[in-house]
Amino acid sequence: MTTHVTSQMAPIPFIDVASQRARLGARIDRAVTSVLDSCRFINGPEVAILEEQLAAFAGAKHAITCASGTDALAMILMSWGIGPGDAVFCPAFTFCATAEVVPWVGATPVFVDVKADTFNMDAESLERAIGIAKAAGLTPKVVIPVDLFGQAADYDAILPVAAAHGLKVLDDAAQGFGAQWRGKRTGSIGDAAATSFFPAKPLGCYGDGGAVFTNDDSLVPILKSVREHGQGVDKYENVRIGMTARLDTIQAAVLIEKLDIFPDEIAARDTIAARYNTLLADVAIVPTVAEGATSTWAQYTIRLAPGRRDALAEALRKEGVPTAVYYRIPMHKQPAYARFPADRLPVSEALCAEVISLPMHAYLDAATQDRIVAAVRRALAA
Ligand SMILES: *Cc1c(COP(=O)(O)O)cnc(C)c1O
Repeated sequence: MTTHVTSQMAPIPFIDVASQRARLGARIDRAVTSVLDSCRFINGPEVAILEEQLAAFAGAKHAITCASGTDALAMILMSWGIGPGDAVFCPAFTFCATAEVVPWVGATPVFVDVKADTFNMDAESLERAIGIAKAAGLTPKVVIPVDLFGQAADYDAILPVAAAHGLKVLDDAAQGFGAQWRGKRTGSIGDAAATSFFPAKPLGCYGDGGAVFTNDDSLVPILKSVREHGQGVDKYENVRIGMTARLDTIQAAVLIEKLDIFPDEIAARDTIAARYNTLLADVAIVPTVAEGATSTWAQYTIRLAPGRRDALAEALRKEGVPTAVYYRIPMHKQPAYARFPADRLPVSEALCAEVISLPMHAYLDAATQDRIVAAVRRALAA
């Protein structure tokens, strides 16, 4: 038996996948066993069931599952025929996959700044970036607003800019799947959306997985063809260059169980985030959710005065409180991406030096959260 004192000092998980596993274990074991018994590991019936449930949840006409969030983004660009000479606008403050898929199809990512309050794409910077792309001889084609850290992007501002310039809107909802903007869930906003079921995302499976969402009927057969080697009517006819990007049946079975409790988990995350905000607002810049938006709190990220972040991380580490920095390097300063065009990006650069994320998951109890908050307050007072 461990004593109370040691449990006080026990390391806290950054994202507690095990608590959810304890809650759902038996259900998921049954669902996975049923796939094992059926031996339909690829395109089993669970995949179609999940796709129907995901579409209904998101309020989108179609959900097409796939092997990862990155594949979901790539499948959309490939299905739209985006290629050399095309500009795709991506925030500079995001996970690399948002922009990574753009050179995959031969197009050019153009980096856009984010807003200091929500960390999501800044529509004024998007306007400037469109001008920069045109001046570089590129054709503006797609904007990928990211629902960063779980919060729906500023679609009020971005959709009109996209419409004015004829851009398609691809929502990268890898972090913000389940969040809402003006009552619509991510997945139903824009021309198409991509999400990820990587285990640490708000809705994660037990491996890699992802999905595409769209209301565009004509895109569905193309996405499905791209997902399976560009197949035509016959499985062994190849009408386009595609990829292998199916979601495994086992992961679909896991996700059917997890989607069932997802609304409940989003509500729990929201309560935990609100509590963090109340307890930390006087010592750090706490996250803001814009009017009309909600967040699934993929990350709970605070902002500190320049130069304080790494000392906080070290002090918390000593107390068994893990932290993470999303993101330390803005996309335009990454060695692989520095050659692409960009607007000026002062907010992205500042955020990369000042943000730090605290443990966040649906099963973070008040006592553990109090321990985290106390450690943060102690460290910032020092
Ligand atoms: C995780 C993530 C992705 C990629 O998802 P994978 O399933 O890991 O390929 C894309 N965009 C953003 C913003 C992400 O956070």
